[in-house]
Amino acid sequence: MRGDTGSFRYRRGAGKATQGEPVVPPHPSRVDLHTHSRRSDGVLEPLELVTAAAAAGVQVLALSDHDTVAGVRELTASGRPPLPLELLSAVEINSVATGISRLWEGELHILGLGVDLHDEAFEATLERQRGFRVTRFRRIVDRLRQMGYPVDDQVDEYLAASGATVGASLGASLGRPQIARCLVAARYASTVDDAMQRLLGRGRPAYVPREGLGPTEAISAIRAAGGLPSLAHFADALERRELIEELAKAGLGGLEVHYRHFDADTVAALGEVARELRLAQTGGSDYHGDAETYAEAHASLYVPDEDATNLFALLGRRLTILTGAALR
Ligand SMILES: [Zn+2]
Ligand SMILES: [Zn+2]
Repeated sequence: MRGDTGSFRYRRGAGKATQGEPVVPPHPSRVDLHTHSRRSDGVLEPLELVTAAAAAGVQVLALSDHDTVAGVRELTASGRPPLPLELLSAVEINSVATGISRLWEGELHILGLGVDLHDEAFEATLERQRGFRVTRFRRIVDRLRQMGYPVDDQVDEYLAASGATVGASLGASLGRPQIARCLVAARYASTVDDAMQRLLGRGRPAYVPREGLGPTEAISAIRAAGGLPSLAHFADALERRELIEELAKAGLGGLEVHYRHFDADTVAALGEVARELRLAQTGGSDYHGDAETYAEAHASLYVPDEDATNLFALLGRRLTILTGAALR
């Protein structure tokens, strides 16, 4: 089932940051530090994503599923053939920013780049996050039933047919996009966007608030697991410098400057903020796969090699590729 959840997510998050001149990639990006697979709310299997990214010319890829590193674990399990690119373990935590006003959905999304896959405390933290997702998912489905929009059959079908069969990441694969797809399947909504706007979005009748880590808790947890926390797709970084400064004091280490959907002015402005606050610049496609192939998404992505080389240096890791002459 396909819908345009990616564009919904993005339009609500960063509308005005997209309306200027688009970024024109000077050469195909060799780096993508923000992607999703079916282990959370993406459409591709982890290996399909890696294969598609490598085919598009990506040499360094971070798989950053929501609240789970299950996909990275699978891809790097012993006995698996070597991957066609450098894979960085990552995760995205949608932190609940209680008390911070004027935020989309009341959330700040924090990427944890290079987190340790074997850190038990971090895994326990992610498991709690996934538990909150399951609870929220059930509450929304209950509320829809009470409102006269039962989607229980569609949800059962979705669970049976999806990557949700992978036990460890069940919670991570549950979110409003999936419920929206079920509402479309049950003909209660015309599109995913329609379902979000009328029923599931913040302030709408079937909206149930998220529970889980706050931004500084997410930052601390990522740091404790050896990762670099980077604030994802926050187009307001320029206007809300004080907030970024506060997060930097709490341990934020990066800012997602080269986000695929940002226009050129937004990228330049965020680059300035990152330099001033000494935050690493990161970037990626935020590919989910609802409305496009990876190659289509990659065509408008520009993440400089330096985002990866700086990040790997900060993580104390060697990056042995990206040595080919850049096509500048
Ligand atoms: Zn996000
Ligand atoms: Zn994302």
